[in-house]
Amino acid sequence: MKRIAIIGAGASGLFLAKKLSGKKDFEVVVFEKNKQAGTKLRASGGGKCNLFNTYVDSDCYNNAAFAEKLLQKITPARLLQEFEEMGLRMMADEEGRVYPLSQFSQTVLDVLMENLSPNVCMKMEHEVQKIMSQDGKWLVDDDPMPFDVVVCASGTPANMIPKNRKGYNSYLANFNISTTPFQPSLVGFKIKDYPKILSGCRVKVIASLYQNNQLIHEEPGEVTFKDDGISGIVILNLSAYYNRLEDKRNCFVELNFLYLEDDYDVAEHLRKHHSMKGLLHPKLNELYERQPFDVKKFKMEIEGLYDLAYAQVCHGGIELSEINDDFSLKRFPGVFVTGELLDVDGICGGYNLFFAFASALIVAENL
Ligand SMILES: Cc1cc2nc3c(=O)[nH]c(=O)nc-3n(C[C@H](O)[C@H](O)[C@H](O)COP(=O)(O)OP(=O)(O)OC[C@H]3O[C@@H](n4cnc5c(N)ncnc54)[C@H](O)[C@@H]3O)c2cc1C
Repeated sequence: MKRIAIIGAGASGLFLAKKLSGKKDFEVVVFEKNKQAGTKLRASGGGKCNLFNTYVDSDCYNNAAFAEKLLQKITPARLLQEFEEMGLRMMADEEGRVYPLSQFSQTVLDVLMENLSPNVCMKMEHEVQKIMSQDGKWLVDDDPMPFDVVVCASGTPANMIPKNRKGYNSYLANFNISTTPFQPSLVGFKIKDYPKILSGCRVKVIASLYQNNQLIHEEPGEVTFKDDGISGIVILNLSAYYNRLEDKRNCFVELNFLYLEDDYDVAEHLRKHHSMKGLLHPKLNELYERQPFDVKKFKMEIEGLYDLAYAQVCHGGIELSEINDDFSLKRFPGVFVTGELLDVDGICGGYNLFFAFASALIVAENL
C-alpha cells in the first residue's frame, strides 16, 4: 500500500485524486487550505469552465519544447476520453474550446468529487505548512503517518488579493528549488498617458504587441478600455507573450479599429464626411476630434501589467530543469509537482487547465 499526499484540491489535485480513487494499492489524502475545493476551476471560463482546447498547440505555452513533449504523451483526445469515462459530457465551440455540456463549471467539480472511494480522504481547511523527509518517506505537518509520495498541486497566487497570497507555497521553502518569480499573466496592461476618455468603451480590433517596432504577436478580438489601461481576452493573450520577453522596455500595443474593413479608404471618408462619427465608436470619435490618430495603427505604450489580483494565471514557478519526465523533483525522490505551480503558462482558451489535468494524468500513470 502506497500513501499519497496531494497538496491542493484544485484542478490538477482533484483530477489526480479521481484517477487514484478506488485503486486498492493507494491510500490518498488530499490537503486543501480552503473550505471548498476547486475555487479556480469554478471561476474558470467565466463560470462555464473551458476545460481544454482540441487545437492545443505547443506554441501557446511559454515553453514550447516542453509542451510539445507533453503533447506527445497526452493529447486533447485522451483528455476527452478520460473525462467521458468519468461521466462528463462535453461540447466544443468553433475555436476548439471544450466546455461541459451543462456550460457550468460546478458540473466538472461534481464529476471529479462525487463517488470518491474511501481510499481518498479530503482534509479541508488544512493549509500545509511543511513537508519533511524521514527515512525515505515524507511527513506532512503533524499527520501521524508518513507518506511514500507527496504531490504538490498547490497552484499559484494568481487572482488573489495581497492578503491571501502571503506565504503562498511557503511549505516548499526548505527545498531550495529553483523558481522563476511569479508574474501576473493573462492580465490587462496599464498604459502610459492613457486617454481616460476611452474608459468603458469595448470594441473589436486586431491587437498587436510590438517591441522596438518589431511585431511580437497579433490577434483579433474585443478590447475593453478600463480607467488606466486595457483588457479583454485578446489583451490577456498579449500579456502572455509580453511575459516571455526578458527585457520589457519599449513595448507598445497597436490597435487596428478598422480591421473588419481594412482596405476602407479613411482619408476619402474624411474628405467626404468631415468627421469620423459614422466610422468609430462614439468615445473613439470624441478622442479623434480632440487629437486625430491613425485608426488602423493606434499606439498605446505599455507601462506594465495589472496586479496579480486581476491575473488568471502566473508566469513563473518551479523551473522545469528541476523535474523529471514523470514530473517528480530530481533532487527529492517521491515528491511530484503538477499544474500551475510549475513554470508553465498558456494563453486563454483552455491551455492552462489542459496542463493542470495532463500533468496530473502523467503523475497518476507513473505512481
Ligand atoms: C478567473 C479565472 C478564469 C480562468 N479560466 C480558465 C479557463 O477557462 N481555461 C483554462 O484553461 N484555465 C483557466 N484559468 C486558469 C486555471 O484555472 C488554472 O491554471 C488551474 O486552475 C490551475 O490548476 P492547479 O491545480 O495547478 O491549481 P489550482 O486550481 O489553483 O489549485 C491549487 C489548490 O491548492 C490549494 N492550496 C494552495 N496552497 C495550499 C497549501 N499550502 N495547503 C493546502 N492547499 C493549498 C489552493 O487553495 C487551491 O485549491 C482561469 C483562472 C482564473 C483565476
